[in-house]
Amino acid sequence: MKEKIYVLDASGIIGGFISSKHKNITIGGVLSEIKDLKSQIAVQSAMDDGKIIIKEPDTDSLNQVQNAIENSGDILRLSEVDMSLVALAVTLKKDYHPLVVTDDYSIQNILKILEIPYQSVLSEGIREVYGWIKICRGCRKKYPADYKWDECEICGSNVYRKRIKK
Ligand SMILES: [Zn+2]
Repeated sequence: MKEKIYVLDASGIIGGFISSKHKNITIGGVLSEIKDLKSQIAVQSAMDDGKIIIKEPDTDSLNQVQNAIENSGDILRLSEVDMSLVALAVTLKKDYHPLVVTDDYSIQNILKILEIPYQSVLSEGIREVYGWIKICRGCRKKYPADYKWDECEICGSNVYRKRIKK
C-alpha cells in the first residue's frame, strides 16, 4: 500500500493543518501566499522538523491538469499556484496516496475531475487539525482563523475565535 501524504494549499496551512502523523507537502508558490506571521512561523518550524516538504510538479502533470481544466467546460478560476499544487498531487500519485487539504472550491472541483481525494480544512471529523478557527454566534458558520471581519458574511452576527483541539 502506498504511503499517505497530505498536499497542503495556503488555506490548509493558514487553517493550521499540518499533520504530525503523515508527511505534508506543498509547492514553493504556496509559501509566498502565506502572509500572516503565525502561519509563517508554523511552516518554518515544520520545515525545520522535516514535517513539510517543498516540491514542484513535473511537466507531464502540469499538462494533464491544464487539459482537464480546458476539457471541463467549466470556467474554473485557478491561479498558477493552484494549478501547480493540483499538478503536484498528480505527480505524487505514482509513489504516494495524496490527499489534498484545501477549502478552495475551484481546486476541489478540478480534483474531483482528476479523481484525486481531498478534504476541507475545517470539515468535521478531521482529527489532526489544530489551531484556531472563527465561528459565527448566529448561524455557526465556520471561518478560517485569518478571517478579517468581526461579523458573519451570512447573517451579520458576531464572529468569535475558538481553539480546535488536536
Ligand atoms: Zn452567521
